[in-house]
Amino acid sequence: MREYAPRRDRALQSLAELASEALAVSSPPNLRYLTGFTGEGLLLLSKTPVLITDRRYETEAQEETSGCEVVAADRGHLASLVEALRTQAPRRLAFESESLTYAQYLTLRDALPETELVSTTKLVENLRLRKTAPEVELIARAAAIVDGVLDAMLPALAPGPTERQVGFELNRALIEAGAEDLSFTPIVAGGPRSALPHATLSDRVLHSGDMVVLDLGALVEGYCSDITRTVMLGDPSPEFVERYRAVQAAQRAGIAAAQPGRPVAEVDQAARQVLIDAGFGEQFSHSLGHGVGLEVHEAPTLSARGDYALEVGNVFTVEPGVYFPGWGGIRLEDLFVLEETGPHRLTNACQARY
Ligand code: ZN
Ligand code: ZN
Repeated sequence: MREYAPRRDRALQSLAELASEALAVSSPPNLRYLTGFTGEGLLLLSKTPVLITDRRYETEAQEETSGCEVVAADRGHLASLVEALRTQAPRRLAFESESLTYAQYLTLRDALPETELVSTTKLVENLRLRKTAPEVELIARAAAIVDGVLDAMLPALAPGPTERQVGFELNRALIEAGAEDLSFTPIVAGGPRSALPHATLSDRVLHSGDMVVLDLGALVEGYCSDITRTVMLGDPSPEFVERYRAVQAAQRAGIAAAQPGRPVAEVDQAARQVLIDAGFGEQFSHSLGHGVGLEVHEAPTLSARGDYALEVGNVFTVEPGVYFPGWGGIRLEDLFVLEETGPHRLTNACQARY
């Protein structure tokens, strides 16, 4: 992608609004977003950017980046950052308060008494909110991989294996299908364990009559996908069907509400109201969705507490769920990119029909 230099220019514009000439970039996804570098390091973002890494990543740093001076540090990344800062001597240095550690902050403060340190939050994350066409293309590829894996595996899912065995199969299938990695450890939660929204893989055997929540994502060139399906092994009870349909209706309402300019709190509420009306408001215990990009959970969060209005280029999930301790849970999650005309669906794997 030839987008890195323009991204750095936009970050510098945001910095100028804070009257700062430089930003110490310590968040790994922000580092990758601004340079393309996939290894570990720090970026001194300024008019003359310096990418600081070490000997392990020197080759990647040279190959993956352009327009940045690359320093392969011998004495630690932070010491090299201090050195570069002594050379550039910015009057005000912004730092990322959510990723720079307090120890690193103290080192910078003590080493650079002439430089004022300016705390920032979400400076680069705000630039990442609106994806460009090449970014959407990578996310769509990651979405196509999870679609293919689920289309192949879900119809064949049967009682017998443990959650961990199914999780292992998902891992293998995702990598075989071309994912460079998983965007997170898959969730395979059967029976009562499906009532845990973030269940970890267990050795519980999947039985006939279990509902199973499968939540997985693939990684393509650093970009994530995220999808959840819930299936019933065996005949679905009327109770399951009623609850499943309520979640489906809530997801449809959320998708319909997710239009450009719409506050995220209203989108969350549109879906939530459907479940409240169905009597399941208490069981929908998390927010409606989250942004997806270089991180599987990033801005914007579709929640009642959010104060963001959706913009064209946002990529986000819509994932209502209901969770009944002792009984189980049902969640449906799909991934969308927001276009002028509304949300465009990126995940399409088999929707179970109940
Ligand atoms: Zn998910
Ligand atoms: Zn998700």
